[in-house]
Amino acid sequence: MIDSPFSGNIVIKDSHNDMALELVISDLDGTILETEDYHRRAYNVLFEELGLTRRWSREDYSARLATMGGGKFREIISWLDQSEEEQEEVSRKLYARKTDLYVDLIVKDLRSGDLSPRPGVERLFEEILESETLLAVGSACVKWAAEKVLEASLGTTLVESLATVCAGDDVAAKKPDPAIYLLVAERCGVKPADCLVVEDTGHGMQAALGAGMKCIVTPSELARNDSFAGAMMRFENLEGVGLTRLRKMWMGEQGRVPRDGCL
Ligand SMILES: [Mg+2]
Repeated sequence: MIDSPFSGNIVIKDSHNDMALELVISDLDGTILETEDYHRRAYNVLFEELGLTRRWSREDYSARLATMGGGKFREIISWLDQSEEEQEEVSRKLYARKTDLYVDLIVKDLRSGDLSPRPGVERLFEEILESETLLAVGSACVKWAAEKVLEASLGTTLVESLATVCAGDDVAAKKPDPAIYLLVAERCGVKPADCLVVEDTGHGMQAALGAGMKCIVTPSELARNDSFAGAMMRFENLEGVGLTRLRKMWMGEQGRVPRDGCL
């Protein structure tokens, strides 16, 4: 054994240990799976079930995402002959039915092989689960839908290894509010400053940053033009992104924003 001049009473404090990467939190929609078009398709099946002739093209849906936020059901209700008193109940039923359709379409395509997790997701998740770092999911989806889609896409074993899955119905405010990510950290007993979020949209990244967490982004198709200022790194996808690389970036992130070649 070599005698080190630093052995004995001297303690060398590694300042980076004050902010260790303890928990990786992934978003679901758009980050694990490219799902945004399934929302549009589910709306179109819903319109068919309602006897409506309208259908939303990708352009129609994209425009609504950019300008209307959560107002899509208000628009649909305006097409139906509903009294004011009935509107809330009808809107709730339509939302529930659209969620059923959305999950059914995704699970069907996952089973047939027409849909798979985005490149690199499963490998990175398995690597994190084999390490001492925790892995969790924070999704705006309702809980049952998030769990069903996660199981269909990643398998039961991986999903059961997650530290927690927090969903839209666990919190009062949706992203960009940081509530969902703060709840994940709280349930895992980890400080927000020790969490790294993986997101696909600008508003998802804002939720992570608002929670005091670091964030890497892998923009989904409809979010490529979002602003990602403040992200630790932007990747085309997670292929080739390993935990060692994430830890190195984490250590190097001291008030600066390193960039990757694929920006
Ligand atoms: Mg997303």
